[in-house]
Amino acid sequence: MKNKNSKKLFEKAQRLLPGGVNSPVRAFRAVGGNPLFIEKAWGAYLSDVDKNTYIDYVGSWGPMILGHANPKVDEAIRDTAQKGTSFGAPCQLEVQMAEYFCQRIPSCEKVRFVNSGTEAVMGAVRLARAYTKRNKIIKFAGAYHGHADYLLVKSGSGAMTLSQPDSLGVPKEFVQHTLVAPYNDLPYVEKLVKKHHKDLAAIIVEPIAGNMGVILPEKGFLRGLKKLCRQSGALLIFDEVMTGFRVHEKGVQGLFNIKPDLSTFGKIIGGGLPVGAYGGAKKIMNLVSPQGATYQAGTLSGNPIAMAAGLAALKQLNAKVYASLNKKTERLAQGFREIAKKAGVAIQVNVVCGMFSVFFTDKQVKQLKDVQNSRLDLFNKFFHLMLEHGIYLPPSPYEACFVSTKHGENEIAKTLRAAKDSFFSLK
Ligand SMILES: *Cc1c(COP(=O)(O)O)cnc(C)c1O
Repeated sequence: MKNKNSKKLFEKAQRLLPGGVNSPVRAFRAVGGNPLFIEKAWGAYLSDVDKNTYIDYVGSWGPMILGHANPKVDEAIRDTAQKGTSFGAPCQLEVQMAEYFCQRIPSCEKVRFVNSGTEAVMGAVRLARAYTKRNKIIKFAGAYHGHADYLLVKSGSGAMTLSQPDSLGVPKEFVQHTLVAPYNDLPYVEKLVKKHHKDLAAIIVEPIAGNMGVILPEKGFLRGLKKLCRQSGALLIFDEVMTGFRVHEKGVQGLFNIKPDLSTFGKIIGGGLPVGAYGGAKKIMNLVSPQGATYQAGTLSGNPIAMAAGLAALKQLNAKVYASLNKKTERLAQGFREIAKKAGVAIQVNVVCGMFSVFFTDKQVKQLKDVQNSRLDLFNKFFHLMLEHGIYLPPSPYEACFVSTKHGENEIAKTLRAAKDSFFSLK
């Protein structure tokens, strides 16, 4: 694998951008080595500035469920851009997108579009506090809800990768209302709720966790959270920025048939452009300005090109697409398990439609500490071996691998052949 051009670009980038990147995990710090500079992407593939081609399992960290450069999304972007790129006034596409969105997500009667998942979560938490007139929130260790100050406590993804779960620049007072519980530990949450119930505004949860690697909720966990919220008067927020339209056409809330009070979306709903959204029942959403007094605004929110791209992407997703994606993801996961077993390498593969994670451990992975106790060194070796074989995995053991509808038989076969060589070389 040549990487002369990527290396040169990275040297220059480091002089101009902190760490050479605009988002931390891209820098390969967890796995070591230099990041690759991508020149173009199509379908399930990426190629870098040194003309190496890879099968992509990052998918821009989730949005590219239809693969890269989807023709219908591209067409929507081009058509819309010709009519102006931003108005700062209402446009029809926002209404179309809102209608489509609310029809699909049963818990959302009204929705507010923003520019990122981070913004969506900030809006939802502010709204939960406004509605309940309370302050405290409970989040889970290893969950990532964007980079708002008060949510950078034991957060996953990039913050985990860099082993600095908390950030500089966040005053202690800003996180005093943030309570943290271990994922899948309902008794722990129950204790927290009991202690703080009079001031508990919300429990925010990734209903399937993806930012400490993929971790599924155990049976009864999500329903238990909902019950605790009902009893205490707090709101349940599903952060579906990653899982929304990825695991099911109605998100995790559709997959498990549980209705949260508020939910947040991002990633897929922008079709690869910057979009976020938060929504819920009318009686809560009506508190958002200008209808209510919970302020939240955005110069580019509901941007016509982003709305058009998102709508074009969502319209291609239906039950049939998810059934096929689910089958493929399961096959990949099962393939990894079988090959690792033959190679005598202990792994766990956590999997759900369109996303999976390989953990190097013989114990089940149910919460953050199980990931931390896995063999991170083996993951890092595995990552580089796979890369040498033309397979681009997320460069961190605390991330999900994403599968798109464009990953076909050939790509799966090639990935499993690479996995075989890599597992056997690990020993
Ligand atoms: C990616 C992500 C976010 C943050 O979204 P950005 O668009 O990166 O700001 C928030 N919550 C979850 C669950 C995510 O996966």
